[in-house]
Amino acid sequence: MNLVLMGPPGAGKGTQAERIVEEHQIPHISTGDMFRQAVEDGTPLGLEAKSFMNQGKLVPDRVTIGIVRDRLGKDDCASGFLLDGFPRTLPQAEALDTLLSEMGKKIDRVVYIDVDEETLISRLTGRRICSQCGTTYHLIFNPPKQEGTCDRCGAHLYQRDDDTEETVANRLKVNAEQTRHLLDYYGNVGNLVQVDGDQPIEQVTTAILQEIRGSAE
Ligand code: ADP
Ligand code: AMP
Repeated sequence: MNLVLMGPPGAGKGTQAERIVEEHQIPHISTGDMFRQAVEDGTPLGLEAKSFMNQGKLVPDRVTIGIVRDRLGKDDCASGFLLDGFPRTLPQAEALDTLLSEMGKKIDRVVYIDVDEETLISRLTGRRICSQCGTTYHLIFNPPKQEGTCDRCGAHLYQRDDDTEETVANRLKVNAEQTRHLLDYYGNVGNLVQVDGDQPIEQVTTAILQEIRGSAE
């Protein structure tokens, strides 16, 4: 099962990805997570990505496509993968198609999680992430049992640098400019499904899993 999870920042891609990969036993490939790890490790990739990320801009296609190419070539992607946050531009979508066809693969489903802008702003500014295992919480919509502490591993929760109100506004603007092209592209390919992301987390998961099952029939 080769899946792409699309949607604006804060739509719930990471939250849903955690659940989908557990159900389907495929790797979760988040370009945002890969860039954040590179920033934390202080690698040349991290140094290049950091300034774009902190301004709410997209990292250049050349760099982003390169890391996805390397990642999809790894053994654990042999029987499927879930891409989260990639592709985000038309050139990325085209490069992904080329890359997959070179590997004799194709995308089975592109799931777009649709959420209105006002909700996205409150989701992003209230988001908190576990510093150890990466589990995502929300101060109001999905709080941990104990404030500031991860339910799963007990480590402390932090707020992403780019989840400030100012950067969030820019991320949503950049996203709106790109999304139209991608929805047109995958709409034409015919493997796109849209899911209402403005429902409780469990209901969104159920809707996505149903759509994915549909693609396997
Ligand atoms: P993305 O990966 O698309 O940027 P996340 O999965 O990190 O989004 O979710 C953004 C924030 O919204 C997180 O704090 C998460 O806990 C919360 N969230 C995700 N899905 C829902 C939902 N269906 N209802 C309410 N809050 C949600
Ligand atoms: P995310 O965790 O998906 O919200 O991504 C965080 C940031 O990483 C984005 O605001 C971009 O700066 C960068 N990024 C993640 N995925 C991509 C992508 N596919 N193309 C370009 N930049 C990306």
